[in-house]
Amino acid sequence: MKTSTFQVPQHVNEETKDYLKGSVERKQVIETYNSMYSEKIHIPLYIGNKEIFTDQRKNITPPHDHQKVVGTYSICEPVHVENAIKSALEIKNEWTNTPWEERASIFLKAAELIAGPYRSKINAATMIGQSKSIFQAEIDAACELVDFLKFNIIYMTEIYDEQPITVGNVSNKLEYRPLEGFVYAITPFNFTAIGGNLCASAALMGNVILWKPSDHQIYSAKVIMDVFNEAGLPKGVINMVTGDPEMVTNIALNNPNLSGIHFTGSTNVFKGLWSKVGANINMYKDYPRIVGETGGKDFIVSHPSSDSLVVSTAIIRGAFEYQGQKCSAASRVYLPKSKSSEIFKNLKTQISTIKMGSPIDFENFLTAVIHKKSYDNIVNYIDNVKKDNDAEILIGGNYDDSKGYFISPTVIVTTNPKYATMTEEIFGPVVTIYLYPDNEWKETLKLVDQTSDYALTGAFISEDKESVEYALKHLRYSAGNFYINDKPSGAVVGQQPFGGSRASGTNDKAGSKLNLLRWVSPRLIKENFNPPTDYPYPYMK
Ligand code: NAD
Repeated sequence: MKTSTFQVPQHVNEETKDYLKGSVERKQVIETYNSMYSEKIHIPLYIGNKEIFTDQRKNITPPHDHQKVVGTYSICEPVHVENAIKSALEIKNEWTNTPWEERASIFLKAAELIAGPYRSKINAATMIGQSKSIFQAEIDAACELVDFLKFNIIYMTEIYDEQPITVGNVSNKLEYRPLEGFVYAITPFNFTAIGGNLCASAALMGNVILWKPSDHQIYSAKVIMDVFNEAGLPKGVINMVTGDPEMVTNIALNNPNLSGIHFTGSTNVFKGLWSKVGANINMYKDYPRIVGETGGKDFIVSHPSSDSLVVSTAIIRGAFEYQGQKCSAASRVYLPKSKSSEIFKNLKTQISTIKMGSPIDFENFLTAVIHKKSYDNIVNYIDNVKKDNDAEILIGGNYDDSKGYFISPTVIVTTNPKYATMTEEIFGPVVTIYLYPDNEWKETLKLVDQTSDYALTGAFISEDKESVEYALKHLRYSAGNFYINDKPSGAVVGQQPFGGSRASGTNDKAGSKLNLLRWVSPRLIKENFNPPTDYPYPYMK
């Protein structure tokens, strides 16, 4: 019985800790990292109230030290996926009927656990398993995940508050029902927070989840499951399986109860999911909601009026943080010829100071890229530049995978605006620059818009107000997140809702009300307090 309404806590972004020398947080995370590095963890499947350790297992190896084994994870069989979906559906009724304020309390508790007692653990797991520097781990695994959880609770109440008007002797109510079946969350390696959010956002709205994290985010995914468990999330609401992505996906997508897909990852995988849903459309009880945030080919355009230091810093931070493995990473840059020598000089000076190595050495700005396949792919692009006539390496271009998958920050200059590294997503510490004649900056914007299939993020750097207005108008559909005088990456939940269109996804803006709306199916309830008792209308008399 409800006897009161509740207010949820207001939230203004989790504060990023600095990890300065001598600080408590630095000491804690180093200790946690070292102890996790010297132990071996064994990660189960989480299915209903069972933790299942399968015989078939794979090693977890840090990308910066690939011969080191820090643990193993379970490889699921088809029966596990079937059981995970069954467990989700078994608890569905109970979870759907759990009052929203109880669901909110669970996820608020989870947020506080991450902000407090689990902070160093989730950061260390992200540093070890995904090779993030402490700063990159902190802004992702700790702060962004806390922000997702807390802001989504506020957005949930705002959605529930949105009600139709009631006129006359009736009452109109909108009930925001969870989707009728289950939601399948498939998440990428590069953000711990995305892993947590893609399941938690739909679960918060009352849905039950089958979660398949990336093979390269499993260590921090396990910490997330521990947090949800300790926060009191009923077992079975989020079921985590790890294993062959195609097998898991085929089983999930062949289930008539599939009500939604919450995906973040590469464009081709997403297109494959969409095609399978299309082919199966007559099988489902619902039209499954398909939400996918995918790849990017994110740009920086420097206007002739721009400040060269602002441009160089935006390139370095935008292209190289987390080794360029952000969907929002700057990877194609358009510079006016008049500024190029100054900007090249700045880049050379600043990049020469960048250190690369293990994330446990806090002086390192860069660490390793995620895995061998990614390393080989990036190396292939670099080697091609060394052979091709229309591109050359300005800075970097070195690589070494003897210990970890290390690639030095690389700047390419091309004379061909459609060169492969200007158009294809590379997902590594590689950025390509194209120089344009200053008086052709307007034509260059056309080029920016038409060069890539993606439309995720972009930045326009300029001191000239009119040029900013022009760029906003002419690049309207070129990026879902558009930055003026800033780098194109680093969206903060609650401040810059994130997502792009065209080949970059369905643009449902993770970390906003728009995203949560995809996980509900509203029911309108009209009640008439004075129903008519015969059919003729007055005009008929
Ligand atoms: P990925 O596409 O390789 O993997 C993403 C998920 O899909 C993983 O869980 C993976 O196991 C699964 N998967 C892989 N192949 C599959 C298949 N055939 N069928 C079903 N599932 C499959 O992506 P990744 O390398 O983990 O992440 C990098 C990609 O994610 C980049 O393209 C990046 O731009 C994108 N990304 C986008 C955003 C965004 O908000 N737009 C955010 C983060 C990452």
